[in-house]
Amino acid sequence: LKTIVSDIDIPCAFGPAYEGERVRGADLHCQAGGGKTQCTELVKMAEMNEIEDGKVILDGPDVTDLKKGDTFPLGIYVQVAGREFQPDFEPILERQTHHLVNYIQSIMHIGQRDIAWVRISDAAIEKGFSIKDIGVVLHAKYHQDFGKILDKVQVTLMTNKEDVDKLTARARAEYKTRDERVEKMTDEDVEVFYSCTLCQSFAPNHVCSVSPERTGLCGAYNWMDCKASYEINPTGPNQPIEKGECIDPVLGQWKGVNDFVYKASRGAVTHYNFYSMVIDPMTTCGCCECIAAMLPSCNGVMTVNRDYAGETPCGMKFTTLAGVMGGGASSPGFVGHSKFNITQKKFIKGDGGLHRMVWMPKILKEEIKERIERYGEENGIPGFYDMIADETVGITEEEILPYLQEKGHPALSMPPIIG
Ligand code: SF4
Ligand code: ZN
Repeated sequence: LKTIVSDIDIPCAFGPAYEGERVRGADLHCQAGGGKTQCTELVKMAEMNEIEDGKVILDGPDVTDLKKGDTFPLGIYVQVAGREFQPDFEPILERQTHHLVNYIQSIMHIGQRDIAWVRISDAAIEKGFSIKDIGVVLHAKYHQDFGKILDKVQVTLMTNKEDVDKLTARARAEYKTRDERVEKMTDEDVEVFYSCTLCQSFAPNHVCSVSPERTGLCGAYNWMDCKASYEINPTGPNQPIEKGECIDPVLGQWKGVNDFVYKASRGAVTHYNFYSMVIDPMTTCGCCECIAAMLPSCNGVMTVNRDYAGETPCGMKFTTLAGVMGGGASSPGFVGHSKFNITQKKFIKGDGGLHRMVWMPKILKEEIKERIERYGEENGIPGFYDMIADETVGITEEEILPYLQEKGHPALSMPPIIG
């Protein structure tokens, strides 16, 4: 695992050895994303004659134009062409950005999709790092790791706000289409789930299990994506898991999954539930889009997304929650999940489902408004969207409880969340 790939023409050292390396405050030169600016990643298939292999375009200023402490918007747009290439492979390549950029010494990458975060240290700047080097790395590694399915890779890096905003709008529409490909499938429909162990370099015991109704907690891999990833690389991080005997249909536990997780976590995790955050929830790693937490006084739960930096009623901000939860352990009372998963039908079903949701940041609520409203309609709770409190109502349980009572939030009349 410690091999350094030497044939990548960038001024910084490169290889898996640098993956877990952090860029801390004092060493930070400049950064993109992380709630300060927009940072978005998109991989799209192109026609063979549309792109030029190895071409890396930087549209906008480079890091040499920035001062220490600056922030900048960043769009990483990769176009891929190949006779064997299919649009289904786009999310798999896109998700590689995380570890590949982390392989660059003195550069740190967190997150994915439209919540990526790139931190560049002083050491990288001294060595002569350019934003273009991200493109050099992606081109070289895509060929190395995915040569079987692609022939050409062209990368455009955008650092002008208008370009990044435009890319982000387009990317969000793409993410939505990808997410909804599993919309009509249920966990009962399939005999096979998929594992994802892509994040084990950061969270060694962490094993995501991805089912049609439980999209990976980073939001970047759903069941279809894992299936495609397995087709591309049968010995890779996404392995089929035979569900086997169902141990608990309400909490979502299967013997086949437990056996797999036990092995893949090297004995650290013996079992977990797909549909509960209260009882033995799935393990969480640091790249989750959201973290849900119990709010016992409100008899419900809250969730907070990475892009919300404020306080929350559970007493912890997202970053604190991610620090506590993100090491790959199963933490009863908390669970990492994707944004899309919130409105998937099995979301914390074993704890009462989305009926329990009493607080969400406004930005997240608005992002999935349509889907929350649909949930309300389908479940006989008209006006459900407005019953969910946000930071404008309050950021403590005491502050939001009167609001929930006034609105008649369904969580208040449910059985106690802790049994
Ligand atoms: Fe895979 Fe889970 Fe990491 Fe997403 S969070 S890349 S699904 S291990
Ligand atoms: Zn992760």
